[in-house]
This record gives sequence, structure tokens and C-alpha cells, in this order.
Amino acid sequence: MDKSKIGRRFEGKVAIVTASTQGIGFSIAHRLGLEGASVVISSRRQNNVDEAVKKLKAEGIEVFGLVCHVSNAQQRKNLIDQTVQKYGKIDVVVSNAAANPSVDAILQMQESALDKLWEINVKTSILLLQDASQHLTKGSSIVFISSISAFQPPAGLAMYGVTKTALLGLTKALATELAPHTRVNCVAPGFVPTHFASYITNNETIRKSLEEQTSLKRLGTTEDMAAATAFLASDDASYITGETIVVAGGASSRL
Ligand code: NAP
Repeated sequence: MDKSKIGRRFEGKVAIVTASTQGIGFSIAHRLGLEGASVVISSRRQNNVDEAVKKLKAEGIEVFGLVCHVSNAQQRKNLIDQTVQKYGKIDVVVSNAAANPSVDAILQMQESALDKLWEINVKTSILLLQDASQHLTKGSSIVFISSISAFQPPAGLAMYGVTKTALLGLTKALATELAPHTRVNCVAPGFVPTHFASYITNNETIRKSLEEQTSLKRLGTTEDMAAATAFLASDDASYITGETIVVAGGASSRL
């Protein structure tokens, strides 16, 4: 990315991005930080947090990192408390954590996998925002990271897709609940070759077929997702709330 071409839309803003030590979450934190935000990053492992903080600091980004497994209530509360203690407010929350513990068909799926999908992909986003809500500034912005699978859950990702569909509804519902103080939007990425998607995108045949399904004939990049997220989180999107942007190179999702 040519840094000279990006703006400084988040000067003076404080942004929390969950699950942000690699992949899409890291790129979102990177983008918001380059645009002037103080970014709070987190994930399950301290060494991943330390490494990501080091990378962002090396680029002159104001960053604070801590461990937060999104299922851990104490760690969620700590994430919010420490952010407010350090920076005094929260302007942006990007809810990015997700799990896909099983490729089983929905009616064959173990109850434990169903519980984990609901918990990580939907419930903890709500619980984190419950903790954050009293600290959100006027004009603040929330962005959920859904998936193109939300629109047509594919085999092998079906229940994961359904939890991502739930985020589209959650976006609408919270946009109403939190208006006019806070805007709530969503990004639905197409396939991006990250660790999370590696079991799909590392397969040459599947990868080619996924590329063919896009109009732009390529997979997405983490930076593509970060750019759309930054737009929705910024004042450039100040009249947009309750919406989902599909960032999938023209792959079929909806009319
Ligand atoms: P990724 O590259 O594998 O990165 C996952 C990040 O989340 C890591 O920093 C990981 O660090 C952290 N993490 C994992 N589980 C966590 C948990 N329970 N609590 C806190 N942090 C956790 O994944 P990604 O592809 O960027 O995926 C990010 C989001 O994009 C997800 O919501 C995913 O559903 C969505 N998405 C991805 C694609 C794709 O093709 N990649 C497509 C559509 C949507 P630790 O290991 O240290 O916890």
C-alpha cells in the first residue's frame, strides 16, 4: 500500500479491534493506526500480541496490546477497562473474532460445535459491546466482520455461514438501538488467504475455482478488508448505518 495516498481520518480516535494479531484484524488495526488512531489490539496468545505490537510500533503507530480470548468474560472486561484507563474513551470497535470448529453438515454437527460457533461468532460480540457501550463516544462506530458465506452458506461452512448471517441481523438491530449516538455497520469479506482460510485457499484447485467465481479474478487481501472497514468506521460514512458492504471482488452474494 502506498502510505502517502491514505488519509488521517482517525486522528485523535481510539479504536479497539478484536482478534487482531494477524490476518484481517491485524490489517484493520494497521490501517486505522496509519490513519492516526490509537489502536488497541488483542488475541488469545501473549506472544502473538507482543509480536503484532512490535510490528505496528515500528511503523510509528500508537498501539496498546493485551490478551483477550473473546470467550473470557474477565479478559473482555479487562480489554475495555484498560482501553478506557489508557485512552479515556472508545470511538471505534471492530468485532472480528470468529471460529469454524467443524466442517460437518448442520444436522450432523455436534452440540459442542454449534455452541462454539454461536458463542465466538455472535454472542461474544454482543457481550463485548455491552461492556463497551457506556464508553462509546458520540459519533462512534461499530463494524462487525461477517462473511460472504452469510448470504449463501456453502457446504462445509454452512453453520459458520449461518452465524455470519446472524451478524447481518445484529448490525440492523444494533444500528437502531444505538442511533443516533453510534453507527453500526458490517463488512462481508470474500475469500482471503489467511491462516483461518488456509485449509481452503491452500488447495490449488479450490483456490482457482474461488478466483474464477469473482469478477476481478482474484482472492481478496487483508488490506482490501481493512480499507472497507476503515471507510465504514470513519466520518466519510457518517450517513451510513445498519448496512453491510460485501468486499468479494464481485463474487455472487445478492442483488
Ligand atoms: P486469521 O488470519 O486466522 O486471524 C485470526 C486472528 O484471531 C489471530 O490474530 C488470532 O490470534 C485471533 N483469534 C482467534 N481466535 C480468537 C479468539 N477466540 N479470541 C480472540 N482472538 C482470537 O483469520 P482471518 O481470516 O483474518 O479472519 C478474521 C475474520 O474474518 C473472522 O471473523 C472471519 O470469519 C472473517 N472472514 C475471513 C475470511 C477469509 O477468507 N479469511 C472470509 C470471510 C470472513 P491468536 O491465535 O493469538 O488468538
